[in-house]
Amino acid sequence: MCAANIRVLATGGTIAGIAGSAIGVEYRSGEIGIDAYLEQVGGLGLSASLSGRQIANIDSADMGPAVWNRLHPACIDALADDDCDGVIVTHGTDTLEETAFLLDLTLPVVKPVVVVGAMRPADAVGYDGLRNFANAVRVAGDPAAAGRGVLAVMGDRVFAARDVRKVRTRGAEAFRGFPRESVGLVTPASLQWFGAPWRGGGQLFAWSDDLPRVAIAYAHADLRAGDVIAQRGQDIRGLVIAGVGEGNMPLDVRRALADLAARGVPVVRASRTEEGLVDREESDAADGFVAARALNPQKARILLQVCLANGLTEPAAIQRAFDEG
Ligand code: ASP
Repeated sequence: MCAANIRVLATGGTIAGIAGSAIGVEYRSGEIGIDAYLEQVGGLGLSASLSGRQIANIDSADMGPAVWNRLHPACIDALADDDCDGVIVTHGTDTLEETAFLLDLTLPVVKPVVVVGAMRPADAVGYDGLRNFANAVRVAGDPAAAGRGVLAVMGDRVFAARDVRKVRTRGAEAFRGFPRESVGLVTPASLQWFGAPWRGGGQLFAWSDDLPRVAIAYAHADLRAGDVIAQRGQDIRGLVIAGVGEGNMPLDVRRALADLAARGVPVVRASRTEEGLVDREESDAADGFVAARALNPQKARILLQVCLANGLTEPAAIQRAFDEG
């Protein structure tokens, strides 16, 4: 079998971070450029031919349309290139799940696309970035990865973009999947998939470089309607409420959001709990709400943005998009 040609699109994050001390706590994300990174990776003896492109070099707290609008076309170029077998996106872990899901929704995933990061900077003792990267190369070089949408590799596990979420602030095992825990196990030398590919290469939604603004409101005891309305700003086209429990909220907040939905601003009920499945309730029809199902608030926000960009504004049509997970 000849070595896979893999395009690496670098956006920064801790995987490219430097602390200046092997044991320091503070560090700067996005310091190492992709050429230097690939030179370092060259020493690992990976059976793949890697070419790199620097899309950005940022902390992923700053991730958003400015970078996505460069990253998406770069992915499309790579997927259309006959000399490219797979794509790796290096990314900060803080918002990795959002970029991975956005790409999952809007790319024709006809080849493997893998998003990877690291929890420790490159000069720290126990740097996890090289192993995660080597694992990502293993996944991106496997044609069987293509039928599983965009994937995230962290630790020795492969996650589907729709499921993956960061659940810890520290430590190399900071990611989990929900509702599917993970879809495969990987090491630099082995890859085991759990089950058959579930998705063709088709693109789920059209890409838009002008995603509408959608806000998230975080529910808590004693949340007031006025707090939510003040928080949502003027130019918001949709709202996700990170509700308590199963997407619940105080009665006056519910009334205010039902009023918002009646004025044509879609409202999605998600949960602030870590594994928050939110199913439709009878009251959703009357309130004009959408239930987020298994998506956490930040993923629900991405899907709502993509729905709105694709002209889906009616709650029933948006609900179908949330149901099709
Ligand atoms: N703050 C970093 C980032 O998201 C964290 C990381 O990459 O692990 O860019």
